[in-house]
Amino acid sequence: MVPLDPPLRTASGVATVASLALVDIATAHGVVGHAYVSAYTPVLLPALVQLLKDLSNLLPGQSLAPKTVMRELRSRFVLPGTPGLLDMALAALDMALWDAHARVVGRSLVRLLGGEPRPVKSYASFGMDGRERAVDAALKSVDEGFRAIKIKIGYPTLKEDLDVVRSVRAAIGTEIDLMVDYNQVLSVPEAVRRGHALDDEGLAWIEEPTLCDDLDGHAQIAAALKTPLQLGENSWGPRGVQRMIASRACDLAMPDLMKVGGVTGWLDAVSICEANGMPVSNHFYQEMSAHLLALTPAMHYMEYFGLADAVLASPAIVVDGCVTPSDEPGGGVTWDEAAVERYTPH
Ligand SMILES: [Mg+2]
Repeated sequence: MVPLDPPLRTASGVATVASLALVDIATAHGVVGHAYVSAYTPVLLPALVQLLKDLSNLLPGQSLAPKTVMRELRSRFVLPGTPGLLDMALAALDMALWDAHARVVGRSLVRLLGGEPRPVKSYASFGMDGRERAVDAALKSVDEGFRAIKIKIGYPTLKEDLDVVRSVRAAIGTEIDLMVDYNQVLSVPEAVRRGHALDDEGLAWIEEPTLCDDLDGHAQIAAALKTPLQLGENSWGPRGVQRMIASRACDLAMPDLMKVGGVTGWLDAVSICEANGMPVSNHFYQEMSAHLLALTPAMHYMEYFGLADAVLASPAIVVDGCVTPSDEPGGGVTWDEAAVERYTPH
């Protein structure tokens, strides 16, 4: 339970803590694979952790072959179905298995998968904190070298949205990419209305203007706007990404490693994006996402948001607005054990 300072404010709710489930998978090789996932809310965290414990009983004796293990695990849950907590837990195991696999082979994840570490263009990601804080955060990010910034909007009125966007734009100039995220808060007609008003602000994307599972609504909005529409952090699995693309619900895709099914699901989902000519960004999980984006020809932007930084031994470092995945064996996640102990509820 890592306090978020400042709290992450969105148009659909505020998070004051990062509710993280940490996974270690020990192997017979003596190597341990690491991963974390977010339960989004403390309410779900105990259930997610219990589910991980129960699933982990199915792992002893399995070979360290992530795709094989996940195929076998998933085959057990065809009848109940997986979207929700079960997919979240399965993705955490998948990520930890891939991390362990890379460590055993002695390769960074990006090299294991046939790529090389390269700088991944990243954007600084912020909440809905009002005009002054948005401007301050944006200016600080530019000073730190970021060439792209995302803010959350969805204020009570369009006028307030425009005011924040224009104030940030005036502060950072036209050379920096600016994105906005509505976190699903608008109705479809209101999204079209606000989107039209934002269309001349030169935004790099408008994210999740309406409810994430309303693909028809998003398709209407995407067709009506000039600004690219970004979607994907709430797509469950590669098939969710496939449905999103087939529905023409968006112009850009940003799968979330947890919801898309870990590394296994990400690779399938991104292949679908690439076959459809759709640029790919990520959502959360920046350590492993940096490895996977460095591998991706359609790489667009990495979201830089240090959700788990407080418990990581080596948080991602930004240089010239880019994060380069670590070339150490594994997927980039190692614990600061003292911090983990400090933030673990007992
Ligand atoms: Mg978002």
